[in-house]
Amino acid sequence: MNSSINADLHCHSAVSDGTLAPEALAARAKANGVELWALTDHDEVSGQQRARDAALSLALPYLNGTEISVTFAGTTVHIVGLGFDADDETLKAGLAATRGGRRERALEMAEGLAKVGIEGAYEGALKFVSNPELISRTHFARHLVESGKCSDTQEVFRRFLVDGKPGYVAVIAHPGRYKFSANEEYALFTEFKAHGGRGVEVVTGSHGAADFIKYTDMALEFDLLASRGSDFHSPEESRIDLGTLPDLPAQLTPVWTALADRVHRAS
Ligand code: MN
Ligand code: MN
Ligand code: MN
Repeated sequence: MNSSINADLHCHSAVSDGTLAPEALAARAKANGVELWALTDHDEVSGQQRARDAALSLALPYLNGTEISVTFAGTTVHIVGLGFDADDETLKAGLAATRGGRRERALEMAEGLAKVGIEGAYEGALKFVSNPELISRTHFARHLVESGKCSDTQEVFRRFLVDGKPGYVAVIAHPGRYKFSANEEYALFTEFKAHGGRGVEVVTGSHGAADFIKYTDMALEFDLLASRGSDFHSPEESRIDLGTLPDLPAQLTPVWTALADRVHRAS
């Protein structure tokens, strides 16, 4: 697999906080020219088989994926995992344990919002959840936007919501989004490598042109594989559609070159 294929290795379905079914995402990816696809729902792999079956029925090569939240230096950092065995019992148990705290965290968020005068946010957020086990700050955000408490979901994240839990490793997602100092970011990359992390998203829907340059340099400096993914959630909310990002810079080694034997293909 060469570096210029249209790979999109980061997006969300209604199994987590996206709005489309895995099958609809597969069709959208195919229609947009994606040549290698991964669905990466937050802390959840129950959509993997549907996504994989739908992709293969369209002759779209597929990698298993997920996006896990971890905490580093007091900040939530997202890690995208790719190419794992979605039926692995240890992985499923680990993700279930990670999700287990979501209801508690959601209730804490609701309490925090009540303190700033926003009552009933937990019930409001629940209306946006298709899988109540996966209630997250995104659902709170949709509720706050819909109820007129905030003008957009980004504002909600900035103003009200925090999230975080212990985690698991593969590719650092959208590093340009975190508010780390240069020292903290260097420490994140160093520790990530020390724990066996192998890649970083360089081209993502969250990055601008300056981030592409900065994280190309970081990938080379830390000898990390480079990933590419839109982080598409919804036709209404997402600025970048599946499969519409620029190519990875040519000097980088794409993460999919290390995952060739993990790709599912139509037989
Ligand atoms: Mn999300
Ligand atoms: Mn993320
Ligand atoms: Mn994401």
